[in-house]
Amino acid sequence: MGSGDAPASTGKAHQRDGESGSGGGAVSRAADQLGKIAKLFSCKKLPDMVSKSYLEPAGRPSDKWSLGNRLLVMMEGTRDARGILQWNAAGRRVVKGRKAIYILGPTVRSRDETDEKTGEERKVKYVAGFHAIPVFRYEDTCGAGLSTVKDEPKKLPPLADVAAKWGIRTRYDATEHGEYGSFSPSEGEIRLCTDDAATFFHELAHAAHSRLEELKSGQDPEQEAIAQLAACALGRAYGYNVDGYTYNYIAHYAGGNEPERVGRMCYRVLGKVERIMGMILEEERAAGRDAGKAESSGGPAPASGPADAPPAAAAAS
Ligand SMILES: [Zn+2]
Repeated sequence: MGSGDAPASTGKAHQRDGESGSGGGAVSRAADQLGKIAKLFSCKKLPDMVSKSYLEPAGRPSDKWSLGNRLLVMMEGTRDARGILQWNAAGRRVVKGRKAIYILGPTVRSRDETDEKTGEERKVKYVAGFHAIPVFRYEDTCGAGLSTVKDEPKKLPPLADVAAKWGIRTRYDATEHGEYGSFSPSEGEIRLCTDDAATFFHELAHAAHSRLEELKSGQDPEQEAIAQLAACALGRAYGYNVDGYTYNYIAHYAGGNEPERVGRMCYRVLGKVERIMGMILEEERAAGRDAGKAESSGGPAPASGPADAPPAAAAAS
């Protein structure tokens, strides 16, 4: 309540950024969309038509081993053991001096046999016995972090550099309990379990929110509405329409899917969403400046100012 007049003022404050070109253009457009989205949600029920897909877990070579070998590995106190070449292919190497553990592989030989019916000679394979294969435990290797998903996207979503500037790592990961992503303030990390960019925007908004005030742990309804409303506006600016998904997401946390209820939730959090968008906008604009204009070294750098300074005010000043 009482924030109905807020969208117009911020829209104006951000207008300037669109003109300044490079970095902030899309985010600035997104900020302009906020009020429109809140208004739309207040008067119209939207169907959820977004289907995001999860990244497929990468699996380990040992997943395909025999039960006996998997037990051997577990008894050595690890969940992942691989041959030296397999580790190297995964970007890791065995720590000097560490000893191999051994699994058993079938020794396959072949012999010639004559087909009784046709009289033809053919080679038949048979297991002649078993031999020991040296493998190393994950704990005895070092190097690159193991990718936990198959076909990991090569690129991070738009605005990933904003998270990086805030010292937040973004990585792809397999889902644990059906979540599409998560943000951990304590670990300074955004996990993405889908390559859907709007999911990243949602987590980035949580990250921006955490710079504004301390986040409540778990799925707090207002925090979720804030993050998803920001994701929806950013999505529009970057060409991902998640209006329907957002409507239903907010409806879930608002306790019902009537437009009045969803709209009320939107207007309740609009002020904070605007500030968050402003923070992201400032950071993106600063990144554009860094990349584009080296000569503007004398100018102030509002992006590195205190996190609780209202960005809208900074932009207008
Ligand atoms: Zn969330």
